[in-house]
Amino acid sequence: MVAAVREPGGQLMSRRPGFPARLELPSARPAPVRKSGSPAPARASFGADAGQRVTPGGVGLDSQAVRARMVGKLTAQGITDPRVLAAMGKVERHRFVDSALVNQAYEDTSLPIGLGQTISKPNVVARMIELLLGGRNDAAGKLGRVLEIGTGCGYQAAVLSLLATEVYSIERLRGLHEKARDNLRPFRLPNVHLLFGDGMVGYVKGAPYAGIIAAAGGNAVPQAWAEQLAVGGRIVAPTVMPNGEQALVVIEKTARELKQTVLEAVHFVPLKSGIA
Ligand code: SAH
Repeated sequence: MVAAVREPGGQLMSRRPGFPARLELPSARPAPVRKSGSPAPARASFGADAGQRVTPGGVGLDSQAVRARMVGKLTAQGITDPRVLAAMGKVERHRFVDSALVNQAYEDTSLPIGLGQTISKPNVVARMIELLLGGRNDAAGKLGRVLEIGTGCGYQAAVLSLLATEVYSIERLRGLHEKARDNLRPFRLPNVHLLFGDGMVGYVKGAPYAGIIAAAGGNAVPQAWAEQLAVGGRIVAPTVMPNGEQALVVIEKTARELKQTVLEAVHFVPLKSGIA
């Protein structure tokens, strides 16, 4: 396990303390990306209903206008990467929550998604993805392959699909894995691969990853994630600190080391091992 240690006063993005531990990383990379056996891909169609009225119980909601307001709020909260803001403005968050919660879908709040789990508030999703990108991109303005731990309802996977070439998203609860599949089906995203399994062991067939993002917080970042990260890649994961509180941790992999930065306090559901 990669131990997470809070650096003194390490709450600021600008701090880049050296990672305290050196890991022995296997040199045999990369493993080929699995071409078959991944969940059936589908085709993309974001924003197809731009301006459409979503009317659960007869309450009108112009989803595009509401999303634009949400993006304005994200900007005011300090999200600056235009790619992240554009993606947040495109993905119809209301399609990922229960109908009774549709009117809260664009509020800055986390929401229940079933089985005791929650979808993070938009600000946290945007912040984590911005950290994951870290200003990096390929010629097409995208990050390479990304691994998401904790598919949940599939919302963040949909946002990531606009920003990464391939998204491998693992969920340990079968009920949510299936819910995400249902939620994502209408979006038809060929680059999203939903996997049912224990994300603590990562997903070696998609490695090495340009980014690994966790939506659940453990006591440490599993070593498998560090091993499956490409050199130049980043892990963004909520991690429980020695004081018992969760903080956002960023790990950057260089040719020589893993550099860890501990950022602001967060509140994520726990990272658990095994499937259920
Ligand atoms: N990104 C999600 C947020 C889901 S909440 C979304 O957009 O909806 C976090 C999820 O992580 C939960 O569904 C939980 O079941 C899952 N999780 C926790 N530990 C896990 C593990 N070891 N492997 C895979 N998923 C895990």
